[in-house]
Amino acid sequence: MDFNLTEQQEMFQRSVRRFVENEFPPLVDIVDKENNFPHEIRPKLAEMHLYGIPFDPKYGGTGADHVSLALALEEFAKVLASMAIHVQLQHVVLDRFNKLATEEQKQEWMPKICAGEKVGCFGFTEPDTGSNPKMIKTTAVEDADGFVINGTKRFITNAPWADVMCVFAKLEGDISLLFVETDRPGFSTSKKMDKLGLRGTDLSDVIFEDVRVPHDHLMGGKGGKFDALKDAMTIGKLCLSAQCVGLMQASLEEAIKYAMTRMHFDEPIFDLQAIHWLLAEMAAGLEASRWLVYRGAFLKDQGQDTIKDMAIIKLFVTSTAVDVCRWGMQVHGAYGISKEYKIERLFRDAKMYELLEGTSEIQRELIVKRLPR
Ligand SMILES: Cc1cc2nc3c(=O)[nH]c(=O)nc-3n(C[C@H](O)[C@H](O)[C@H](O)COP(=O)(O)OP(=O)(O)OC[C@H]3O[C@@H](n4cnc5c(N)ncnc54)[C@H](O)[C@@H]3O)c2cc1C
Repeated sequence: MDFNLTEQQEMFQRSVRRFVENEFPPLVDIVDKENNFPHEIRPKLAEMHLYGIPFDPKYGGTGADHVSLALALEEFAKVLASMAIHVQLQHVVLDRFNKLATEEQKQEWMPKICAGEKVGCFGFTEPDTGSNPKMIKTTAVEDADGFVINGTKRFITNAPWADVMCVFAKLEGDISLLFVETDRPGFSTSKKMDKLGLRGTDLSDVIFEDVRVPHDHLMGGKGGKFDALKDAMTIGKLCLSAQCVGLMQASLEEAIKYAMTRMHFDEPIFDLQAIHWLLAEMAAGLEASRWLVYRGAFLKDQGQDTIKDMAIIKLFVTSTAVDVCRWGMQVHGAYGISKEYKIERLFRDAKMYELLEGTSEIQRELIVKRLPR
């Protein structure tokens, strides 16, 4: 067992940290206060090869590993988690193309997504179901020219400005996956949602009204794509858990900084035992989460079945992140709720992660189903 990062992973981590610390701070207000996505960052992310980290360079990727992907997303979220969610969604779409598209389609889409020229989105959630994808109502009906898609998807990240969408639909009664260019007639999106955290990463409905795609837009053949969804969600869970580690690291740093300067009588509050206890719990939660995430990334690199592991990681890490950010806020006293302090945004962002890629309740179900008995 070796718990050390390789030299290459450490170099990559340092270069992402430098990039993020230079580029992201001026974007915070645009993203969080104005709820807008700064598209000018896309070519810079691409130049740093941050869109296609574990994919083959022949498709525009970097050819690195999932540990490097986790390290990058952790660094992102320390400064601005919304940027990490944007990259996560690009990654999930790239992963679908990589695993299920034809060679020609990979050549067509993956380099453009890795270059930040094209944006992808990914949809299974619908107005009537998020937790049970088997209940989806969106349909794809085959005819001589291809497929006709009808239905509504909800809470779709990146949707308002995506160029391509991977969409789950019922085809002949079973779940299939298709990709759709967003400029096809009948494809539309609703107004973007004004939401609590991860602001700037636009969420909206996607409406399909008789959207036609050719036969070759069906990914991986007809039916049986519940497994493809579960696979996509394991990678999503790894990505978002890595972001929670970044949020916790930032919360701990903010809490220490504040505690060292806030005075109670003549002493900084850092010297109070009550504050020690909060900081110690924060440090313990962060450390446990970080190693769970790195191990999850390692398992992904070994090509192992990670459904149970990722459910455990997601459940533990996302709820720990909410606790750690809440404790960080507590250290700040009433200043913690002020938008003048970074901890307020970290806390709002942390809450979001308990909901996406399957709620905590669904992770518990996934874990218990796989316990030996
Ligand atoms: C920031 C953000 C980004 C997102 N991005 C995307 C995206 O890009 N693409 C996409 O498709 N979706 C996306 N989603 C949607 C997300 O995946 C769903 O919100 C999530 O799966 C939960 O679905 P729901 O909100 O419909 O909750 P519901 O399924 O309605 O659940 C409501 C409550 O009931 C509980 N519950 C439901 N079923 C069970 C059960 N069987 N056992 C125990 N408890 C249960 C849930 O845990 C929850 O507490 C995003 C969500 C967020 C918050």
